[in-house]
Amino acid sequence: MSFHDTQRGYSFEFFPPKSDAGRQRLAKTVQKLAPLRPSFVSVTFGAGGSTREGSFQTASEIIRTTNLDVTPHLSCIGSTRDQIAAQLDTYRAIGVKRVVALRGDVPEAEAPLPRAFAYANELVEFIRDHGGFEISVGAYPEFHPEAPSPEIDVANFVRKAQAGATEAITQYFYSNDAYYRFLDWVRRLGLEIPIVPGIMPLTDFAQVERFSKFCGADIPAWIRKRMCSLEGDARGQEELGIELATRQAEELLRSGVPGLHFYTLNRAEPTLRIWHSLGLSDTAVQVLTQPSAN
Ligand code: FAD
Repeated sequence: MSFHDTQRGYSFEFFPPKSDAGRQRLAKTVQKLAPLRPSFVSVTFGAGGSTREGSFQTASEIIRTTNLDVTPHLSCIGSTRDQIAAQLDTYRAIGVKRVVALRGDVPEAEAPLPRAFAYANELVEFIRDHGGFEISVGAYPEFHPEAPSPEIDVANFVRKAQAGATEAITQYFYSNDAYYRFLDWVRRLGLEIPIVPGIMPLTDFAQVERFSKFCGADIPAWIRKRMCSLEGDARGQEELGIELATRQAEELLRSGVPGLHFYTLNRAEPTLRIWHSLGLSDTAVQVLTQPSAN
């Protein structure tokens, strides 16, 4: 039995590179990760300038060069409704079957951008009515930083499923308890869609720490202290980051999560190492429990 026989889904996230060197690096990363046969790979959407076009180029390049299912992200910011409709048609024509629908964030120092919708639930509804796609959305076990309260944020999350999302991928987190509690909360509200944990290995602690302040993800004090004790030792921090992500992913799999979404930051090695340590390539997945309904 391989993990593909279970109902779990594994996915890898990439971002559109901005330079030729970045494009070459991503091509190599995709080549290394493709043999793992993920359920899909996703490509982020940048609302600002050239990154909008980059998302389409990256998605179509992966489709052209591999047999992977590609799931582009779309956001409410940076496009008009007509542009989103046209993007969906283009994606459908090249074989895309699923998209991740997000509100997006306004990029810093950008001229005012078009904004097709105020919130992701409206984009989900639009894509559903357009037809032809499975729709994933974002989930926030530690709650979205702009939400006035956890209750309101959870209610807003539920709206996205009611609008037609059939799966959610979480913002990264380092405390599995936050995920379990969030899951428990939404299940008590009667929501059954799979909520796939997003795994962000702490391979570049300084970078993730900066981003975490912005996106509201908590880095627990014990992890922060262990990372700080390795300050100046980038290699040591990366090793620790991979070890911690492996343990976190293993615990999540044992708890019965429906899959894992790896934030790769366009690098193959951290994901490959976690994957192999978990024995996900082959029958070793049997050591992990069968997934439950979550
Ligand atoms: P929403 O679900 O719209 O929520 C945003 C805020 O508004 C929350 O505080 C929520 O409580 C509130 N809210 C939601 N609906 C309503 C409503 N109807 N009325 C009032 N308040 C409401 N960003 C990108 O720019 N490009 C990407 O490719 C990208 N990929 C991502 C992938 C994943 C898996 C995740 C988790 C995030 C990603 N992001 C991406 C970041 C995301 O765009 C930001 O976190 C953004 O701030 C929120 O997006 P959302 O879709 O969760 O928004």
